[in-house]
Amino acid sequence: MPTLLIRNVRPMGASPVDVLVRDGRIADIGAALSAPADAATEEGGGALLLPGLVEGHTHLDKTMWGMDWYRNEVGTNLIDKIENERAFRHASGHDAAVQSLALAKAFLALGTTRLRTHVDVDTQAGLRHLEGTLRTREALRALQQIQVVAFPQSGLLGRPGTAELLDQSLALGADVLGGLDPCAIDGDPVKSLDVLFGIADKHQRPIDIHLHEPGAMGAFSLDLILQRTEALGMQGKVAVSHGFCLGDVAERERETLLARMAKLGVVLITSAPPSRSVPPLMACRQAGVTVVGGNDGIRDAWTPYGNPDMLERAMLIGLRYNLRRDDEVAVALDTVTHAGALGCGFEAYGLVPGNRADLVLVDAQTVAHAVVSRPVRKLVVAGGHIVARDGTLEAEIASL
Ligand SMILES: [Zn+2]
Repeated sequence: MPTLLIRNVRPMGASPVDVLVRDGRIADIGAALSAPADAATEEGGGALLLPGLVEGHTHLDKTMWGMDWYRNEVGTNLIDKIENERAFRHASGHDAAVQSLALAKAFLALGTTRLRTHVDVDTQAGLRHLEGTLRTREALRALQQIQVVAFPQSGLLGRPGTAELLDQSLALGADVLGGLDPCAIDGDPVKSLDVLFGIADKHQRPIDIHLHEPGAMGAFSLDLILQRTEALGMQGKVAVSHGFCLGDVAERERETLLARMAKLGVVLITSAPPSRSVPPLMACRQAGVTVVGGNDGIRDAWTPYGNPDMLERAMLIGLRYNLRRDDEVAVALDTVTHAGALGCGFEAYGLVPGNRADLVLVDAQTVAHAVVSRPVRKLVVAGGHIVARDGTLEAEIASL
């Protein structure tokens, strides 16, 4: 791997510096660094330098990115979408390996170097989607860190055999155990969460639970999740995705739940959708809860929307929470950079010597300017490799 010296970039909008990259790591950051004899030099031209972007919640295996347009005529209920998707993927032969690789590469071209993806595991598809996504994780391993979540999209209890498949998924190499609405989908939250936490405990893996349940129902499930997190000593190893109930319940109840989440290191992951009441971003952060941003699904049987551009997701989070001041817009970016990495447990992250060299250069004056204008990624460095220029992947990566 060649040593790389990037001249004249402004980390998060600060004064211009040079960045030396060696052996896949940031070796030095400072003004007017001397070029080692073996270094290739890139002129940054005063670009804004961001750390590699972080996608905290997507579904690479579901996407139809690059395929013919999918005509969405799906019913409005959650279960309609679940049943429709499973039937569609079964009938169409939708290939999770091909599709997850296509979308992961699109993320990489736009500067996302760390990514958490939930992958459907169910008794119809078995481990097919998981195995396909694990192939993508392996193909991109040197460039993009992908965490694979084994996700029971069709429920855990309703379809016997699912718990065994989740157990096998972790044995096969899934990084995280997923869960889904223990009341609304499984109908028996105590049993559902006992089974789920039991599998995670057996494999000593983190948990990330999709919790769409509203109001009192969601708060009830969240209480059970927090109880089990504490009882099993899983502090810092549990994430709640969506957590819409935190946007519904009364302020006092919310504050109690947030304080417990903060104490137990339970992370909140949100796409900040405009269609639901969402957990209040600033109140969560002030309570000490790490809030991570993510797209959720991108162009799949659930939604025609989404884009593998984490600057765009930061902008949508900013819009959803009415973030206008520069320091507020920087918080939106934080959910897809530092807080994202912290919440998902991605290590060696950030623009500090010794960390993994994941760098994104854009023409923008400030962080807030970058979020609202979502400029072309001039240069993307991932794990010390130049992977994209001006929004286009290098040929050898595009052909992976
Ligand atoms: Zn999701």
